[in-house]
Amino acid sequence: MALSILNEDENAIRDAILDLVRKTIAKRSQEFDEKAIFPRENIELLGQQGYLGMIVDPRWGGSGATYLAQTMVVEAIAAADPATAVIYEVHNSLHIEGIWRFGTEEQKKRYLPDLCRGQAIGAFAITEAESGSNAASMRTRAVKKSDGYHLSGRKMFITSAGEAERYIVFATVDPAFEEKGITAFIVPKTAKGLAFGPPEDKLGIRASRTSEMILDDVVVPMEDRLGAEGEGYPIALYLLDGGRIGIAAQSVGIMTTALERSLAYARERKQFGKAIGQFEGVQWRLADMATDLHAARLMTYEAARRREEGEGQRPLFAMAKLFASEKAVKHAIDAIQIFGGYGYMREYGVERLLRDAKVTEIYEGTSEIMRLVIASRLLKEYDLGNI
Ligand SMILES: Cc1cc2nc3c(=O)[nH]c(=O)nc-3n(C[C@H](O)[C@H](O)[C@H](O)COP(=O)(O)OP(=O)(O)OC[C@H]3O[C@@H](n4cnc5c(N)ncnc54)[C@H](O)[C@@H]3O)c2cc1C
Repeated sequence: MALSILNEDENAIRDAILDLVRKTIAKRSQEFDEKAIFPRENIELLGQQGYLGMIVDPRWGGSGATYLAQTMVVEAIAAADPATAVIYEVHNSLHIEGIWRFGTEEQKKRYLPDLCRGQAIGAFAITEAESGSNAASMRTRAVKKSDGYHLSGRKMFITSAGEAERYIVFATVDPAFEEKGITAFIVPKTAKGLAFGPPEDKLGIRASRTSEMILDDVVVPMEDRLGAEGEGYPIALYLLDGGRIGIAAQSVGIMTTALERSLAYARERKQFGKAIGQFEGVQWRLADMATDLHAARLMTYEAARRREEGEGQRPLFAMAKLFASEKAVKHAIDAIQIFGGYGYMREYGVERLLRDAKVTEIYEGTSEIMRLVIASRLLKEYDLGNI
């Protein structure tokens, strides 16, 4: 069904990606989750079909689509496979967009085409063991020498680490400069001195790989610095703004599946001689789920549209992520409740919604950090996107 908030092209993209996901990604999603298989084939497929680097100019291998179109693709993928959705989201919003917006012509020419085709996967490394929500306190050092910058340190919880061919790594040229010392670099997987920890054993999104990155005197040539020295922090914040819209979309995808599965079960499961969907207690839960889903989707799409308008919209992105992620966790619990005992069993695949949803409240900024972002702007000016 066409959505009125989308233009004709976006509705066509939505129909096409939903169809592709149903016929391909959805089929092996449960197996990949159970066996923690990294879904590289999904990323390759999305590249072949033109869904990677969608907002990038076709000159560099993208499709010149709107930010909202790319956001809907995250949502559609997440409805079937939240693990592929986060790999996709990091690849596009945190890596490709970083090179496209902040890279030199030479970097775009060298790096964007294979990322947009799905022949290389991109990752983003800012978090460290002692530096999570407060990313500006990072310790990974970049020391400038005649042959380039020498990077040493450890990055924690990096999506696709060990699988991705390239990494945008943030390091400080001097911790005393705090955020003004942070600088971004493009580092290939094959760089000498770069090693990866084993895959983390996670609660959910188990098919995505999350690992530590160990940088031991990794030499990055001058031409692979991304942006100017000391400008890495605003670059990270800009990219994370987009990433948060992507995580909101991932949450909306999970909510969609929670509602669809719950509705189907409420129609089919009979107790006391009727389908459980005939009971008011179940109906109210379904009605609330549908209402929240609609609100979360509109907030996410609105945030994606605002992303195209430029600066000053950060609290709206935070609101979309905060609302959608917290509702995704709640709806996963609601779906389990509607399924009763069957919801608690792995076989029915509803418990996975909860395992996959939980992380949306944590990565790319926790719910607490989203509230800080919103409140700090509110206290400065009430006019948040004219609420
Ligand atoms: C599966 C997964 C994939 C990830 N992928 C990546 C990736 O690709 N790249 C990357 O760089 N990072 C990645 N991360 C890291 C992620 O972004 C961080 O885990 C997240 O930002 C939180 O940081 P932390 O874990 O250090 O928690 P902390 O910052 O230590 O927070 C712990 C708790 O304290 C709260 N807290 C902290 N500060 C405040 C405050 N000022 N006010 C109120 N509460 C506060 C937090 O909200 C949280 O509840 C990933 C994490 C996970 C789990």
